Amino acid sequence: CVLACDRPHGGQAVQIFLPDGPLALLPLPDPHQRALIWSLPHSRARALAEIEDDVFMHELARATQGHAGTLAPDGPRGLQKLVLALAENYVDERLCLLGDAAHIIHPLAGQGFNLALRDAAQLADTLFDAQALGLAFDGPHVLADYQALRRADGGAMAATTHILAEIFSGPQSRFTAPLARLGLALTGRMARANQGLAARFRAQANGGTAALPRLMRGHRF
Ligand SMILES: Cc1cc2nc3c(=O)[nH]c(=O)nc-3n(C[C@H](O)[C@H](O)[C@H](O)COP(=O)(O)OP(=O)(O)OC[C@H]3O[C@@H](n4cnc5c(N)ncnc54)[C@H](O)[C@@H]3O)c2cc1C
Repeated sequence: CVLACDRPHGGQAVQIFLPDGPLALLPLPDPHQRALIWSLPHSRARALAEIEDDVFMHELARATQGHAGTLAPDGPRGLQKLVLALAENYVDERLCLLGDAAHIIHPLAGQGFNLALRDAAQLADTLFDAQALGLAFDGPHVLADYQALRRADGGAMAATTHILAEIFSGPQSRFTAPLARLGLALTGRMARANQGLAARFRAQANGGTAALPRLMRGHRF
């Protein structure tokens, strides 16, 4: 839903990671308006969508703890089911999918836009190589390379975020979340003690250890 905020948002997004799922307050073009996207288990989401405005705002204030100032309702609340969707084909004749059009993943890990940027960088590479070889951009094998590389990355990220969402807010999260937190804490400690391991984690977060597309290596076309 849209919320009015007493202090200007200054173009800043606020994202709060709560036990039930992430809550995001995103800046809208009006400096005193934010979009609220609150990811929750289905039953709680339904309940929050249906309660009175003042009860809802009380729950929201408890969740945000004043991080975005004083908020007030500025439009109706809506419910949107979170789905995992991965296009079977990213390319077809004179057609190429990038970003959320190709893959819709859980917002929990904040990776959708990162994936979209990697799609764009890979597509630029694919088209650059095709041009250098004098191939037509829509030739049958040109976009197939883009699809092979990007579908693998999109699929791996979709699976990872889906599993993380199950671990931290799925039906068994009472058991799985504490174990995962322990694992993450141990991994964090190992990475702090071992710079090589930390560098490998950073490389993976930046798009994996495979050769990066030119745009991601600072190349300007
Ligand atoms: C709460 C939340 C938090 C997130 N946090 C992160 C994060 O921290 N890091 C991260 O990497 N990702 C994050 N994401 C995911 C990220 O926002 C998306 O993956 C990313 O915006 C996808 O970019 P896109 O260009 O593919 O699609 P979009 O950003 O959705 O852009 C599509 C555009 O097309 C326009 N459009 C739609 N239909 C039409 C039409 N028929 N004609 C013309 N225009 C049209 C839309 O208005 C929109 O402007 C988050 C998502 C959510 C919901």
